[in-house]
Amino acid sequence: MLKIHNPATGALLAEVPDATSDIVAERAAAARAAQPAWAARPMQDRLDVLQRFRVAIAAETEPLAATLTAEVGKPIRQSRNEINGLLARIDFFLAQAEATLRAQQVFDDGGTREVISFDPLGVIVNISAWNYPYFVGGNVFVPALLAGNAVLYKPSEFAALTGLHIARLLHAAGVPQDVFVPLIGRGDVGAALLAQDVDGVFFTGSYATGAKIAQVIGPRFVKLQLELGGKDPTYVADDVDPKLAAESLADGAMYNAGQSCCSVERIYVHERLHDAFVEAFVETVRGFRIGDPTSEETYIGAITRAPQLDVLDAQVADAKAKGATLRIGGKRRPGPGNWYEPTVFTNVDHTMELMREESFGPIIGIQKVGSDAEALALMNDTRYGLTAGMYAKDESRARALLGQVRAGTVYWNCCDRVSPRLPWSGHGDSGVGLTLSTMGIETFTRPRAWHLRQP
Ligand code: NAD
Repeated sequence: MLKIHNPATGALLAEVPDATSDIVAERAAAARAAQPAWAARPMQDRLDVLQRFRVAIAAETEPLAATLTAEVGKPIRQSRNEINGLLARIDFFLAQAEATLRAQQVFDDGGTREVISFDPLGVIVNISAWNYPYFVGGNVFVPALLAGNAVLYKPSEFAALTGLHIARLLHAAGVPQDVFVPLIGRGDVGAALLAQDVDGVFFTGSYATGAKIAQVIGPRFVKLQLELGGKDPTYVADDVDPKLAAESLADGAMYNAGQSCCSVERIYVHERLHDAFVEAFVETVRGFRIGDPTSEETYIGAITRAPQLDVLDAQVADAKAKGATLRIGGKRRPGPGNWYEPTVFTNVDHTMELMREESFGPIIGIQKVGSDAEALALMNDTRYGLTAGMYAKDESRARALLGQVRAGTVYWNCCDRVSPRLPWSGHGDSGVGLTLSTMGIETFTRPRAWHLRQP
């Protein structure tokens, strides 16, 4: 049994039966048998089914948001935002799927034609994180189903109730039970899934788990996508309004209590406006309401996983020991539940864990820099490469710098933003492959090359 606790109160919310390895094997075989019929349906059928899923999600937004808030501790307004964001992503996929998946004739000389068609991969595994279960799950299962795949879906053990709601609504909308298969449990269920006969593994989670999955899947030449963590930097140049930049970046660092893959995790500020920026940043953070995630006023909710509190404590202790200046926060809040005060350090450098390893919590280091070149070097001094940003007046200056940052996504005067129209990918230890955009539909297919010659 998987026991699900509310991270804001510690209360037991539910006990859900978890899948044994026999169940995983049985369900994977059923998915293998069911997938061809799903793929053989007309595209319009699959579009209609996913459209009904969209309508159902929209109709149930409030109870779904309440469940999400209860199991991950996310403020209720942010839970609603996530669900509304999923609707926008579904709209994008529904609008683009037919044209993206349609066979393309790429050559015709009168005698020979060349055509590319897009077959589904087959049966894919979708192992998901808890921090944005609607987003990171939906980025995979929506286009995967539209492309004709069967999906073995393992929601995070910290977002299993949301995972079960997703499955219920997909099935009610008309996705066959064996075509979208939820498998509830912890890492062992994920590991059991990897042992099945599957055609693709799409994972969102930590570098450590992603590396384990890559070791298992690599020698089998099964398509593998890994969307992992980051240590996302932003540089504030010398010619912007420090207060506006600080307000925007405080949100980018603290939204969802900093538990976003693309949270701002490091800030470099030009020395000319460093002090004004820090003052405005700390003031903004001081204004964030922390507490009961069910309250409409709350901005910072609970920390979803209790062990993350130890990671945050360790980064704070390390930064202090190495001479960083604590401006606000720096400690847990008393329970019940898992709470951490929004925390800001200055006088930080890259000897500190805070500036090197993913914090995944409401803590941030702000470092003073003297030039664009220094900022660029520091931004690239990381093993990760998910997103990076620059606040500056001049677009060409920002594009010159951002074009040299190793990151899948770059932002000019914005941060912590994801668009369904743009590919989402990472460099280095932030992962391989991509979701979203039309390429994030194609990624669930196997292109077939047709050489056609009339007799
Ligand atoms: P996690 O790695 O602990 O768990 C992710 C999933 O993997 C869970 O469902 C878990 O049960 C499963 N799992 C654990 N061990 C496994 C194993 N041996 N084999 C197969 N599956 C296994 O990560 P998490 O705490 O759920 O998520 C947080 C991390 O996810 C952060 O690092 C964050 O940056 C990252 N993330 C990345 C993106 C992105 O788009 N790049 C998006 C969201 C989250």
